Amino acid sequence: MRAVVVGAGAAGLLCAGMLAHSGVEVRVIERNEKAGKKLYITGKGRCNLTNDCDVRTWLDATVCGAKFLYSAAYSFPPSATKEFFSDLGLRLKTERGGRVFPASDKSSDVIKALTGYCGSGGVDFLFGRRVDGLVAKDGKAVGVRCGDDIYRADAVVVATGGVTYPSTGSTGDGYAFANSVGVNVVAPKPTLVPLKARGIDGLAGLALKNVVFSIIIEGKERASAFGEMNFTKSGVGGPIVLQCSSFTAGSRGTSGEYPPGTQGAIDFKPALDEATLDARLVRELAACPTAAIDAVAARLLPRTIVKRVLASSGVDARSRAADVSKEQRKKLVAVLKHWTFPLTGAEGAEQAVVTSGGVDVSELDPRTMRCKKVEGLYFVGETIDVDSLTGGFNLQNAWATAAAAARAIVKSASNVRP
Ligand SMILES: Cc1cc2nc3c(=O)[nH]c(=O)nc-3n(C[C@H](O)[C@H](O)[C@H](O)COP(=O)(O)OP(=O)(O)OC[C@H]3O[C@@H](n4cnc5c(N)ncnc54)[C@H](O)[C@@H]3O)c2cc1C
Repeated sequence: MRAVVVGAGAAGLLCAGMLAHSGVEVRVIERNEKAGKKLYITGKGRCNLTNDCDVRTWLDATVCGAKFLYSAAYSFPPSATKEFFSDLGLRLKTERGGRVFPASDKSSDVIKALTGYCGSGGVDFLFGRRVDGLVAKDGKAVGVRCGDDIYRADAVVVATGGVTYPSTGSTGDGYAFANSVGVNVVAPKPTLVPLKARGIDGLAGLALKNVVFSIIIEGKERASAFGEMNFTKSGVGGPIVLQCSSFTAGSRGTSGEYPPGTQGAIDFKPALDEATLDARLVRELAACPTAAIDAVAARLLPRTIVKRVLASSGVDARSRAADVSKEQRKKLVAVLKHWTFPLTGAEGAEQAVVTSGGVDVSELDPRTMRCKKVEGLYFVGETIDVDSLTGGFNLQNAWATAAAAARAIVKSASNVRP
């Protein structure tokens, strides 16, 4: 039994190692000169490799494809990932929100563990070769093509990733492979991505904590999250913005644009309802009646954004606290709870963490990742139309789908160890 795995990223490495350790002859073809170029930059170089949670929590954090993942998820849950890496000698630690990292804080140790595992199983790596296409005959995948060379195999695993951070080698080649054999691909869109906005000039670099960010499309709130965000030169970013970007990927056009009229909204004081916030403002104004309103507002907001918020509420920044009318105060409270600005779209693939879209899950057997239309062809990892929130869930998707394919290939082979 021979298998070719295209791509030495997270999914490709785990799948290849598992196959090799079960006696399958495995060749991994990777276009880069080394394995795991994207893995290296994950978790800001620390690699948040899974989440220490149960399957339900993982699937709840899965924006697209949770139902499809169900079987693979229960067969290779986060606990299996932890056990797998621990067995390879990688010490792990768990941080806030269940995020699991190597104890060394080095993503390179995750890559070393995986390549060592592949090496001890006898995986044959072919680096610096880009697979151009699949070779299929009579509805069966029989190999892959690199220029004039054909690499024959009984099973072909496509682990080419999505389209984000294309400099790492993930440029969506797997989608073209799928299309070439009549397999449907849901239009890929970069997601978990900073967003472009207008009306935020001068705010770049400002970070906000404990706020709620929401996205309003066609008058309806489509996504909302509590936590940290920041302003960039061209819009907004940070954990809660990225999260909201995922929930609204379907509303963005092919160039990442939102429908006209889309707005971002910030609740600067989510812990206080309007009445409580109003009472607080009354106290602050009464405490320093001769102070300018912008100085009072700076006790509630970062200084950089005070003028902007006051302008939105129609209150003159130079007004004395004592002169602020009840009506002006109410307007200010309303803006503090719901400050809006136009959102135009998402940044490109170069800045996105994952891809929304990919190989249509209805084309794959969810237990095995095998392509229903083409025998011997498997898709694993981010190539599939599955995406999750941050927290180690996307790598968990890669490990679980890779393990499912490896198990299925081993099972389908007659001449390998059980
Ligand atoms: C900046 C950043 C940080 C991230 N941090 C985290 C994190 O901390 N935790 C988390 O869970 N997820 C994180 N992710 C997401 C995670 O990295 C991906 O979901 C995961 O790497 C997908 O694994 P994969 O094996 O499917 O694809 P990839 O890791 O992208 O691997 C695909 C491989 O295929 C190769 N390839 C592509 N086309 C060809 C071809 N034609 N021929 C040969 N080789 C080819 C590529 O060179 C690449 O090596 C992060 C992503 C980014 C961009």
